[in-house]
This record gives sequence, structure tokens and C-alpha cells, in this order.
Amino acid sequence: MAGYTNSSMNEWKLREEMCEIGRRIYNKGFAAANDGNISLRLDENRVLCTPTRVSKGYMKPDDLCVVDMDGKQLSGQRKRSSEILLHLTIMKHRPDIRSCVHCHPPHATAFAVAHEPIPKCTMPEFEVFLGEVAITPYETPGGQKFADTVIPYIKDTDVVLLANHGTITAGTDLMDAYFKTEIIDAYCRILILTKQLGSVNFYSDAKAAELLKLKPSLGIRDVRLEKGLENCDLCGNSMFREGYTQFKPEHHAIIPPKLLGRPDGPGLVSSLLEPHGDPNASHACGCKTEAPAPAQAAPAISANDPAFETLVQRITNQVMLAMNGQAR
Ligand SMILES: [Zn+2]
Repeated sequence: MAGYTNSSMNEWKLREEMCEIGRRIYNKGFAAANDGNISLRLDENRVLCTPTRVSKGYMKPDDLCVVDMDGKQLSGQRKRSSEILLHLTIMKHRPDIRSCVHCHPPHATAFAVAHEPIPKCTMPEFEVFLGEVAITPYETPGGQKFADTVIPYIKDTDVVLLANHGTITAGTDLMDAYFKTEIIDAYCRILILTKQLGSVNFYSDAKAAELLKLKPSLGIRDVRLEKGLENCDLCGNSMFREGYTQFKPEHHAIIPPKLLGRPDGPGLVSSLLEPHGDPNASHACGCKTEAPAPAQAAPAISANDPAFETLVQRITNQVMLAMNGQAR
């Protein structure tokens, strides 16, 4: 397979680079004690990976293990991480991916524990370099069942929050996979700090579309472009909400304005009942418009329905914003 190198000299350099990435995730506080694991595909059936129960901040090249694509250990004195199955599952479903970094960066992991979707349309760099981020349903770490939680999402993103656990980022090489971890944690940190100062402000779908259109020239894939900027709903609902799994995290801490019923959104009630907004609306970003869905009776929301609680929370948030003079 093209792009792989088998020479022992090159493999030693890659081992040193993996130890360096380990030091970075440890020194950044992304992996306490022995947490975290890193992988790099050496060829079609050999993957270099970090050992279990060793601090990623103090690894030496000889500490690393080599496993096959099913997780069977081929070499190394130390035992491979049990979470390597997560990495291998991603590599099996994404042949373009050669490296994965899994750790527990505190700011991104806070979103994963809160089941808070990562908002878009707040910072151009994040939009360009990461884009849509998925949150998987929770599963006990370690086994294949846990690894399989990423399967519905990984074809469409390189950055996944593992609910109540941490992050896994995928890349074409070690540094690419690691940088995505740095970016998602830096972004989540900025969001948490911004929320403490006041409200998080969003730019429009049209401005988001301008950023997305830059990505092909930078060689960065974005599945929303492949879908034709479907419905222009770039800043509101995540594409990972609909049709992926039954697990649909809702915005509670940072709510995109269009879900609050502001003028630039589809409206409070319609955003809840019709997540894609008005299909007849004209779109500033020039994207495709989905054919109108057949008319359906709006589902009634009872006081016992979790959707009712969400509705009340959003109305409360909007009233609070209006009282503070922040409503548009
Ligand atoms: Zn973990």
C-alpha cells in the first residue's frame, strides 16, 4: 500500500515521534497518569500502538507494541492497550486514516460528559480545520462493543467525542491526528470561557458556507459540502442528530440562535418540530433546497415528554436573553 514504510530506521523514527506525541498529551493535561492511547498504521496489517498501564509522558521507543488489524499483539514486551480496538475499528472503516489519538482532554471531555453538542458558526478556524464533531453513545471502554460505537459517525468526521469518556481524533499521520485533539480541546476551552463572560455569539449560515467552500482548496474534507450544504442548516442542528443513532444530544448550555427562535433562525417551535426549517425559504449560501416533506400533523408534546422540558428551557433562555437586552 502506498505511503507506508517498512525500513527499521524509519520505524524507529516513528516510534520516537509517537513518544513525543505521548509527552505532549501528558504535558497538556490531556491524559492523566496512564490514560490515553496512540496508534500508527505501519503497513496493511501492522499497527504501532502504546502499551497499557504506562504514562504517555514517559514512554521510550522500546515500550511500544505492534499489533495486527484484529488487535493480536505481534511484538513488544509490554501489553498493548485494550482500547486499541477503537483505533483499529476506525482504520478498518477509513483506509485513509493512518493514526489515531485517544485521550481525555478536559475541556472537550466536559462536553462529552455533559452530552453537549459542539456548536458550529462561532470561530472560523474551528469551522475550517475540524467542522462537524460527533458524540457517540456511552459504552463501557475496552471491548469491541465500545469500539463499534464510532462506526456510524467515523465515515463523516475525524473528530469524535466519546460520551462520558473523552475524545478520539483520526489523521493521515501522528501529528495530524494529535493536532485535531489540540484544536477540539482549545475550541471547547474558548467556548467554556466565553460562556462564563456572557453569551456565545454566532455568525450566519451564509458566512459558514463561505468558510466551508474554502476547505477543498486546503485539502480538507467536509461531509456537509459533499451533501451540497443540505438545507443550509450549518449553524443549528448537527448532521449527526438525524438518522445516525437513537442517541441525539441536545444543546443545553450553548444554544444556536436559530434554535432559540431568533429572526435568523427557523423559529422556536418550528425548529423543534421541523429541524430543517422552512424548505421554501431562500438561502443566502446558494445551497440545495430539500423538497418539502409531506404534510404531517405536528406531534403533541405532553408535560411528561422530555421535549417539553427542552421547550420550556429554551423559552426560559429566550426570556432571560430578552430581559438582558440581548435578544435580536
Ligand atoms: Zn479512555
